[in-house]
Amino acid sequence: MINSPESTESKALEISIVIPIYNERENLTLLDEKITQSIKPLKKEYEVILVDDGSVDGSADLIRKLKNGNPHLRLIRFGRNHGQTAAFAAGFSKARGNIIVTMDADLQNDPADIPLLLEKINEYDVVCGWRHKRNDPWIKKLSSKIANAVRNALSEECIADTGCSLKAFRRTCFKNIKLYNGMHRFFPTLMKMEGFSVTQVKVGHYPRMHGYSKYNIRNRLFASFKDLLAIRWMKKRQINYDIIEED
Ligand code: UDP
Ligand code: MG
Repeated sequence: MINSPESTESKALEISIVIPIYNERENLTLLDEKITQSIKPLKKEYEVILVDDGSVDGSADLIRKLKNGNPHLRLIRFGRNHGQTAAFAAGFSKARGNIIVTMDADLQNDPADIPLLLEKINEYDVVCGWRHKRNDPWIKKLSSKIANAVRNALSEECIADTGCSLKAFRRTCFKNIKLYNGMHRFFPTLMKMEGFSVTQVKVGHYPRMHGYSKYNIRNRLFASFKDLLAIRWMKKRQINYDIIEED
């Protein structure tokens, strides 16, 4: 029973890779292969937590098959679609790694970049991927550029690309953070508010070859603007004090 929660949760590992999945069946076989190619040479103890966020395309069936050939894979499956932040949150709550790596399932992020992030995490608490050469339709690139500029201005942030899922975190970063829907776009700001050090590294970005993007202008740009106002409020109202005497 290698992958039952009872037997897996107690054992600490070096790395947990957490990947939200919503209707990504055609990407999963290659994703599994590429992650193995990238991580195996590092000779670290790791797990890959695939969080199926209510897929209806048979993603979970395929993950079960892939698990037969790869004991590093774990499946968490939601009863319905709850969103990318919820999928991350569920993955984090089950992760056993001291370092948590996040990425997308659609291979727009390249698992080959994971070692780069792991190298940097020796110096920082959070390492954010920066898709400096985006491979998306122009409308998405433009809207992302605007979103990043507005986000950075309103939340006084300097991370170039918070929307890039490829990131590495020390596990402790999530200890005091309560996640809400949409908050995955603000991980670097939330972590900095907790006093963690955050840096960014350039990573590759590739066109989506299979499946479809789950986001459009309405559910990404407008929704995340509301989230941005919440983050801005939190940042401004963050409690800060110094105790100079205590009996
Ligand atoms: N995703 C998810 N639940 C959702 C929406 C997206 O788990 O409700 C996953 C999706 O399967 C992918 C990642 O989040 O692995 C990023 O989604 P997508 O590639 O559609 O976003 P884009 O790159 O187009 O911004
Ligand atoms: Mg994508």
